Amino acid sequence: METTTAPVRVQRVAQSRLKEVDFSNLEFGKYISDHMAMVDFADGHWHEPLVVPYSNLSFSPAMLSLHYGQAIFEGMKAFRRKDGSIIVFRPKKHIARLNKSLDRMCMPEISEELFMTSLQSVLDVDRDWVPSGEGASLYIRPVVFATEARLGVKISDTFKFIILLCPVGPYQAKPYKLKVEDKFVRTAEGGTGFAKCAGNYGGAFYPSKIAREEGFDQILWTDAKEHKYIDEVGMMNVLFVLNNKLVTPQLNTAILDGVTRDSILTLARDMGYPVEERRVTVAEVEEGFRNGSLQEVFGAGTAAVVAPIALINIHGTNYEVPAVKPDSFQLKVKQQLHDMRMGTAPDKHQWNWTLPA
Ligand SMILES: *Cc1c(COP(=O)(O)O)cnc(C)c1O
Repeated sequence: METTTAPVRVQRVAQSRLKEVDFSNLEFGKYISDHMAMVDFADGHWHEPLVVPYSNLSFSPAMLSLHYGQAIFEGMKAFRRKDGSIIVFRPKKHIARLNKSLDRMCMPEISEELFMTSLQSVLDVDRDWVPSGEGASLYIRPVVFATEARLGVKISDTFKFIILLCPVGPYQAKPYKLKVEDKFVRTAEGGTGFAKCAGNYGGAFYPSKIAREEGFDQILWTDAKEHKYIDEVGMMNVLFVLNNKLVTPQLNTAILDGVTRDSILTLARDMGYPVEERRVTVAEVEEGFRNGSLQEVFGAGTAAVVAPIALINIHGTNYEVPAVKPDSFQLKVKQQLHDMRMGTAPDKHQWNWTLPA
């Protein structure tokens, strides 16, 4: 069935799959909503966005993104409030980062307007997919990839931009055991670590698999040159509470500029909590374990929000992180973020974008 809702053309599914979703058991990434937004880049510009049924697409096996990795993505969330309204958390910051990733990969910029029109249109059609359970949300996955069919190594002339939606439940993983990586690297300064480009994740599978075989959940990545400075944890930023200060590695080209990281640092400063963005050495973390000054370690990212860490293996020695307490910084800041999104605390930084009713 083809309907037209200016300005975006919407082709609706004949039958919604919403009834098949078990909202009491939302496994991350399992259910993709009925529709997706889709925009094509050709002849030097982005064309009109469309909303179409989520389905398989057909491509040439010579498509450049498959061979040379010209593909980037984003990850953000929409939340349903008690009054039924729907907000998206910090879309502008995600669009700015999407464009940094696109620029690094020689892919065409997507304007805030095109992005928001596409997002609003697909969210509007699939608004019933935004869950209302405590801690649940709708994960939004924009992806952009090269579609030109050509075996020669070149920058593609055509691209596709797609937005997928996926209802997710509250994050429940048990606290992670980490291994400080001193052999493999995720990325290096000057590389693509600050971009959310596909290759960064494929390249991390192998060292992560080895860490899992050794009994760890995630890797604590260190700098590529000396393995001396801490970069990130798995696919999240990492934060420490050391001597009653919030300490996190300062951004560089090997570290992803996380929206959750930025939100937590901003809220910490609002609370008057001392914040240090600087290089963090593996040695000082080890020293912090030994002298008791290390109080908390947690990962920060859109999927988990805050992921507590239980243990860090440093050069073969296991160190246990003190247990999370009700007054731990990570729980306070997580609650504040939650309250701001749900509208029960003031949104003083204008982070929420409301989907028109
Ligand atoms: C996405 C991502 C993060 C977290 O970023 P958020 O904007 O907070 O979701 C951190 N590190 C890496 C490598 C990532 O891909």
